[in-house]
Amino acid sequence: MKTYLLSAAALPLLSLAAPLPVLAQTAPAEVKQLREAALQDDIAWDIAEGLTTEVGARPAGTPEEARARDWAVAKLKSLGFKNVHVEDYRMPVWVRGAETAEVVAPFPQKLFVTALGGSGATPAEGITAEVVRFETLDALRAAPEGSLKGKIAFISHEMKRTQDGSGYGYYGGARFVGPSVAATKGAAAVVIRSVGTDYHRNPHTGQTNFAEGVSPIPAGALSVPDAENLARMLERSDNVTLRLVLTSRTLENQPSGNVVAEVPGSDPKAGIIVIGGHLDSWDLATGAIDNAAGVAITAAAAKRIMEAGQPRRTIRVVWFGSEETGGFGSDAYFEAHKDENIVLVGESDFGAGKVWRVQTGLAEANKDLGDRLARALAPLGVTRGQGKANAGADLSEFANAGVAAIDLNQDGTLYFDYHHTPDDTLDKIDPEELRQNVAAWTTMLSITANAPETIERVSEKAPARQP
Ligand code: ZN
Ligand code: ZN
Repeated sequence: MKTYLLSAAALPLLSLAAPLPVLAQTAPAEVKQLREAALQDDIAWDIAEGLTTEVGARPAGTPEEARARDWAVAKLKSLGFKNVHVEDYRMPVWVRGAETAEVVAPFPQKLFVTALGGSGATPAEGITAEVVRFETLDALRAAPEGSLKGKIAFISHEMKRTQDGSGYGYYGGARFVGPSVAATKGAAAVVIRSVGTDYHRNPHTGQTNFAEGVSPIPAGALSVPDAENLARMLERSDNVTLRLVLTSRTLENQPSGNVVAEVPGSDPKAGIIVIGGHLDSWDLATGAIDNAAGVAITAAAAKRIMEAGQPRRTIRVVWFGSEETGGFGSDAYFEAHKDENIVLVGESDFGAGKVWRVQTGLAEANKDLGDRLARALAPLGVTRGQGKANAGADLSEFANAGVAAIDLNQDGTLYFDYHHTPDDTLDKIDPEELRQNVAAWTTMLSITANAPETIERVSEKAPARQP
């Protein structure tokens, strides 16, 4: 049986009467109240709507991302957060140019393509070459060295829909490293079937990474219908020729930054909880589900805790820059803050679908904390997973370094229909599902920020995750 000394929500009312007890813990009744009130939340929608309307696309390291930081600082200050500021860093910026693809022979027609972030550039007139198809990344890896010299490699791996989004790690390899592998085989360029689960004619962009010492080659994603069309052509003909124009350039040393805001805690020794999402987006859309939703959800939850009374632990909200293009924001943040007393991390970066599962990365000594959390989330339809939390791309460095982490996994069934396409717009956010997210994060914070026990470090490493 737990003794709840005093609820955090009740603190402001009693603050004149007596010194505040340090070990105040939010009791279940207050957790329930906060959880249910959050189901009526409008703060998150206001943030997501404002950011996508007043700023729009905000690629990392660009003037648009700088405008998003200004917008974020003003918004977070207006919400009453303390210590609102920007932490700057600099980064190289890949800039999209022209992008077209057309089959020259034997069935001339245009295909819908977009360049992958980090792609090499074709000459202005493009590259015209024979297409060689690989049904999987492994098939490409098995191609003999030099066998693709002067050719365009086509990886047609077909992504399958999953609730937990686990397909991204598997099928995403075609994008993450496929172009680099093709380059090592001598390919002149590469096109992939979009890492997406829709049948819209929108190609999905996203970062590709060339291994050290490998010169970037032009790399594009075809929309799923176009990739299937190209595959059918290759079933009819051994000699399909494609003309690919993907011009792009890279600007060195451009300014970017992380936006930080705090709800100061009453007990500095109890440590800091860092939550957030990423402020940058791809250039093709207004980045509503990736990741206006995440910054909105986490800030709204922190705001609700702040309104309920001062928590024991400081809650720090970080809206990271440059998640999409290499994690320069998370690297800069980790470097600057790795020695701080950060005791728990969690990121929302998987769209705006309902939270369906909680996974924890807590020390064995904090088992009871995990149990309380799971019980408090259950009324929101959240099940407890057996996996280990990794805190999302921007905070996983902390989790890997042994900081406790909590993942509130969102339903990703539809996420890869829109992910990194022009279709990632505000209308894809369901306001009711967004509120359920805020309720889940508010519940999580109400328990962890006020937990009387020490939140211990975790020794076991969390698995790495792709952006
Ligand atoms: Zn994201
Ligand atoms: Zn993304």
